Amino acid sequence: MPRFTVFMGLLAMTDDFVILVVDDNANNRFALRVLLSRLPETEVIEAAAGEEALMHTVTRDIHLILLDIQMPGMDGFETARHLLMTERTRNIPIIFLTAVFKAKEFIERGFAIGAVDYLTKPLEDNLLLSRVRFYQVLHARENRLADVVRQLRRQERSLSIALSQAEAANRTKSIFLANMSHELRTPLNAIIGFSEVVARSATIGPEDRKNLEIIYRSGNHLLALINEILDFSKIEAGRVEVVDEATDLGLLLDEVIKLLLPRAEQAGLTLLAQVETIPAVVRVDATKLRQVLLNLLGNAIKFTRQGSVVLEVRGDPATEGAVRIEFAVRDTGIGIALADQRRIFEPFTQIVTHAIGAGTGLGLAITQRYLSMMGAELTVESTLGEGSVFRFTLVAQLATEAVEVPASKGAVIGLAEADRGKRILIVDDDPDARRLLVQILAPLGFALAEAVDGMDAIARTASFCPQLILMDWRMPELDGLAAMQQIRAEQGEKAPPILMCTANVLGEQRSEAIAAGSSGFLVKPVRRDELFAALEEQLGLCFQRESTEQQKAAAVVISPTDLVAEIATLSDEIRDALRKAAEELNTSEVGALLARVADDHPHLARHIAAMLEEFQFEELIALLHA
Ligand code: ADP
Repeated sequence: MPRFTVFMGLLAMTDDFVILVVDDNANNRFALRVLLSRLPETEVIEAAAGEEALMHTVTRDIHLILLDIQMPGMDGFETARHLLMTERTRNIPIIFLTAVFKAKEFIERGFAIGAVDYLTKPLEDNLLLSRVRFYQVLHARENRLADVVRQLRRQERSLSIALSQAEAANRTKSIFLANMSHELRTPLNAIIGFSEVVARSATIGPEDRKNLEIIYRSGNHLLALINEILDFSKIEAGRVEVVDEATDLGLLLDEVIKLLLPRAEQAGLTLLAQVETIPAVVRVDATKLRQVLLNLLGNAIKFTRQGSVVLEVRGDPATEGAVRIEFAVRDTGIGIALADQRRIFEPFTQIVTHAIGAGTGLGLAITQRYLSMMGAELTVESTLGEGSVFRFTLVAQLATEAVEVPASKGAVIGLAEADRGKRILIVDDDPDARRLLVQILAPLGFALAEAVDGMDAIARTASFCPQLILMDWRMPELDGLAAMQQIRAEQGEKAPPILMCTANVLGEQRSEAIAAGSSGFLVKPVRRDELFAALEEQLGLCFQRESTEQQKAAAVVISPTDLVAEIATLSDEIRDALRKAAEELNTSEVGALLARVADDHPHLARHIAAMLEEFQFEELIALLHA
């Protein structure tokens, strides 16, 4: 058979279908070989016994075995058992060849071993060929599948390389963001903080106070813009998660409205909330919902010249234990042209047909992304010149737990005699930042010392024995975190509470500081109320504050005529004292006088306190003269 040998040699190098014929009878093997040679792209290997068959499977890739059952020595069953036990041969399909009179018994035994198929002798040519053909087709499909899997694996590998490159790029971006946020917030800390400090000084004239007010507002505006850019970058980098918490929805809406009321009033607009059948407590991401509402209502106020801004909220039962809450923010403002309605959700898009309300153009993009994370879609309907409605619907789980409402605290006006003299060490390499904290804390009666870096902080801690340390994180040489760890290691239990301060706002920093042993965390620009709350908690003291009655009345707005009428009912003595204190720009004296009238005139007291917060001294003096 020289022709066949050459043929075989060729086939062995290609992807041919290899059939192993195992039969002790040479005539049977020959007959099968001849028959199978009719099939295209097929190679036939012969074995005269089970052992020989197993040898072939070691040296060759076999795709199908035709296995005679009755053979001397190792019979077909035993051969099959060996094949099925071996990893390499386990999946080769086997067709048992059995004499027809033994068929029933052998077939049962064959299937019990795990064989897949059988044919009875004498073999019928067409049946055999079509059966083998079937296995050939199956094999070809398996090959194609294996190709696809290989290709997928290759793609997976290149994707995972791309992914790790993207992750590296993302890390670089985060580090850049952290650095930028630090660089931008550090000077803002000084701008906002010092304008507040100076505004509280009694020596400043009304003209300068107005200028200061502009610096303060602009600083805050800049901070809001930076925050928006940071928020958006965090969303883009996939670093924002939805955190649902039990939330008193009514309270949240109330807070949002109260926060925006002064802005609406200043713009001469009516701002109200129409709330229908909402459940008391639901599980939502309150921080994101608050920001979404502030953005939409803020825009509505910004882009409305006259009329009203209304927040409509309606709850409907959804599935059991959940509620659908429809939100709509409706304004009577300038409206948005149809073509622009599609564009406004894209980042950095502003429809500049007016000069007001410089922003980043990111508010709606952030709002839309937050809402989509919360499973809601933001839509807009608007008519140019008539107004706009922004809508979204949240499905929230009802919550059973009660929500703790933090007691609203009035502005700090002093420190009780007994609490004065507590020692605080201020650590910051930036002299402006230290000076700012000194100016906020010294007038309240704290004993202060300063340190300019981590090493200095360790030395001052030993000599000054502070009862609390305000520690900047990022400093040259020894940073705040390392200094804190060293102080803790040296002083153990005796170490004072340490509040870590940083201008970096990435979430991980907070957990890192707490894990390293800091007692609390303050983000620069440090907000006074947060600083005071942290001091109360860590030093166990209680600041003297504006009366809470004044706070409670915050939501109530008094019209200018009512205001004049109510001021007229104050005693002459109080009115004169108020006017004098206002003329001297003495906020703490005004605060003390308000505390005296708050019981009888809660709305008025709150209104005047709000005017002080907005530095409206001139307006207040005019009112008290009226
Ligand atoms: P920003 O307010 O910072 O410009 P936003 O993303 O919040 O950015 O809004 C994008 C643009 O959409 C705005 O600049 C404004 O042109 C338009 N817009 C948003 N809300 C309103 C509204 N209530 N009425 C009219 N135009 C609006």
